[in-house]
Amino acid sequence: MSKLVAQAVIRGAHQIFKEAETKLNKAIQEKGESQKIEFPGTAFYLPMANALMAKEAKNLKDAKEILAHAKSLLPEVPSDKIWLPYLGGALDAGIATLLCEEIIMVLRYLYKEEPQADCEGFFSDTILRSLGIQLVDGRMPGFAAILGAAQDNKTAVEIVRQLQERNILIFAGSSTKGRSIIDQLKEENVQMGWDNYIVPYGRDTLSGIYPLHWAIRGALTFGGIKPGQAKKCLLYCKERVFAFGLALGELDDLKYATGAGAICMGFPVIADTDIPEVKPSGITSYEALVKELDHSKIVARCIEVRGVKVKVAKIPIPVMYGAAFEGERVRKENLHVEFGGKVSTAVEYLHSTDINKVEDGKVELIGSDIDNINSAKKNMPLGIEVLVAGRKFNKDFEPILERQIHRYINWAMGLMHIAQRDMIWIRINKEAAEKGFRLKHIGIILHAMLHQEYSAILDKVQVKLYTDEKDVEKLIKQAQKAFEERDERISGMTDESVDTFYSCTLCQSFAPNHVCVITPQRLGLCGAYSWLDGRASFEITPTGPNQPIQKGECLDEKLGQWKNVNEFVNQKSNKSIGSISMYSLLVDPQTSCGCFECILAVIPELNGVMIVNRDYSGMTPCGMTFTTLAGSVGGGVQTPGFLGVGKLYTVSKKFISADGGLPRLIWMPKELKEALGDKLKQRCKEAAGADFYDKIADETQATTIEQLKPFLEKVDHPALKMPPLL
Ligand code: SF4
Repeated sequence: MSKLVAQAVIRGAHQIFKEAETKLNKAIQEKGESQKIEFPGTAFYLPMANALMAKEAKNLKDAKEILAHAKSLLPEVPSDKIWLPYLGGALDAGIATLLCEEIIMVLRYLYKEEPQADCEGFFSDTILRSLGIQLVDGRMPGFAAILGAAQDNKTAVEIVRQLQERNILIFAGSSTKGRSIIDQLKEENVQMGWDNYIVPYGRDTLSGIYPLHWAIRGALTFGGIKPGQAKKCLLYCKERVFAFGLALGELDDLKYATGAGAICMGFPVIADTDIPEVKPSGITSYEALVKELDHSKIVARCIEVRGVKVKVAKIPIPVMYGAAFEGERVRKENLHVEFGGKVSTAVEYLHSTDINKVEDGKVELIGSDIDNINSAKKNMPLGIEVLVAGRKFNKDFEPILERQIHRYINWAMGLMHIAQRDMIWIRINKEAAEKGFRLKHIGIILHAMLHQEYSAILDKVQVKLYTDEKDVEKLIKQAQKAFEERDERISGMTDESVDTFYSCTLCQSFAPNHVCVITPQRLGLCGAYSWLDGRASFEITPTGPNQPIQKGECLDEKLGQWKNVNEFVNQKSNKSIGSISMYSLLVDPQTSCGCFECILAVIPELNGVMIVNRDYSGMTPCGMTFTTLAGSVGGGVQTPGFLGVGKLYTVSKKFISADGGLPRLIWMPKELKEALGDKLKQRCKEAAGADFYDKIADETQATTIEQLKPFLEKVDHPALKMPPLL
């Protein structure tokens, strides 16, 4: 490592330590050592100290101990005269920096100085979990933490657009000479937020700890690594979290110190200024600190230095295209034209047909295009008919492919797609229309993307777009008939009606011992993979993460244990799991990776179970929030009494059937109850009578056991009279 770099790192670390010390002493003086400290929405206390030191920092006294440890890591600044090895010292200073920055940030929260204006601040555990699926399926191949400001707004926008087009999540923040990239992007009206893959974290370098916090929690959440296993946590970040730092503008000592912390986690830093480089690999996969002065090449250089695997669809359309544009909204004031929603008739329908009747690549527009739009009306009817054919194509794949239309259209910059089937709502904004986006481009996108992702089962794709009302109505009638048939086919499937289940090991890139077993009546815990998806995915990629498991000999019908399933899970979980029950949360429950939609938890005092979804941030009767519960469930381990599940599992007839089934359910958040709506009402009726739905409490009735008990007694909840759960 260059001595100049080491000097800057260590100087910066001392400066940050001083600030942490001063702030902490002031806080202790004003509030006392027992003053509680916490970041919002995390079960990991001060995550860096929790991961690296196994410290559960709850108050200022705990912070003092962390600070003392940080101090012990701080070396002297290398002198100009006497040569000493300084790589180790600079890296220690990097870790000390992260621990100190964490203390400064939590104190800012204590004094209500965070999050900064227009910034996200600390990223919650819920966000980490909800993005888990995009991380594992490659939609989001990595993260960039940008520090500083570009030389001008145009360059800033170009850099983030290039990162977005590669679906790389961008954490934007820090400043150079008082200017932050956050403000450059704001001035250029770039939409920011999680949905747009651009997350402003804060305008100073110290808040650069937020993206690093987020990464280290990945090791604890998905990697099954225990707090205090510092080396394993850092290695996990290096090997599984594809992050890098991008320093725009001059580097000061604080950026060098924070950058050294990032490098310790395996994340290289790429700068656009003439800095001394640190090229040896080891701590990072390739170079640790490099420069790239040409802004048109800097994103490519970042990807190369970090080894990010990017899948980019090059589609010949006049707007940018990539998953990062998925969450973009098209607002009324920027609207060129819209279809469906409440304003016009619209439908999308994908179906297979005779291979000789499909002309691959043909895109037809039947009716007028969007340049003839009535400028006052701004809406048109739209029917999207996708005809597919393939020798290996199975009719059951139709809804799976059709569901992708939402994603494919949303990935086009300037387009917004909501809902599915005959409830779609599509908007195209003015810029996209000005750049030349026309309806045929929707067909071009669908043709290209379906081939790119499903070429193993598809040979031909043709798209017809209708904009005449009567044509759209006709297509709707045809589609509705097919939709009804599909619904019956899927809902009629039971675990008994098949002899094969499917595995999913996608999350092993984060939780190495986790295996989901997906059955017709139990979807993957992330909620994204049903049995049909598993089967389709296996046909598409026979060596992929979804493998068929012949059920074979049944070991226990009630628990849902099969010999072959147990053997498969044992082998794929690196021999860490001996057996799993498909229908119990008490006996050999399935493992949970971390990206579950909901958590089931036993409430032994009331002989029942509760379920909580990850969007619910309030308290639950088991005394824990979703975030706290999630902290003890994930990581690919079995936790009897707790189980990560997909939302729709609640309405399955196999819902914890070995433990008593749906009548055990005593509490769930109102929003979850309402989201499951009629399906839940129907299942309640079947399981315990028409009035059972109202007997399941929500947070408006109880958030503690003391409140829940009298409610359940009053409504005569069946769980109270069931055989003891434990
Ligand atoms: S089904 Fe299971 S392993 Fe597969 S992506 Fe979902 S949570 Fe991960």
